[in-house]
Amino acid sequence: MSSHTIQTLSAPLPYACPECGSGSTVQVIYGLPDVDLFDAADAGFVIFGGHIFEAEGPTRECRGCHAEWREVDGYPV
Ligand SMILES: [Zn+2]
Repeated sequence: MSSHTIQTLSAPLPYACPECGSGSTVQVIYGLPDVDLFDAADAGFVIFGGHIFEAEGPTRECRGCHAEWREVDGYPV
């Protein structure tokens, strides 16, 4: 059971890339990944930002142009 909420590609995609406008973006996860997260990463649904949570670190990455940005409540900040 994962403690993370994972935004999958089958779910609605409100997280468009601010650089290229692509809707194909993935969630950046911080902390120690569990089995569910490794599966999600293998499937390309998430990427790992590192074991240490970065308060100012990016929360989304674009699969098209690899831009990274922070979002709060679905909006770039
Ligand atoms: Zn992009």
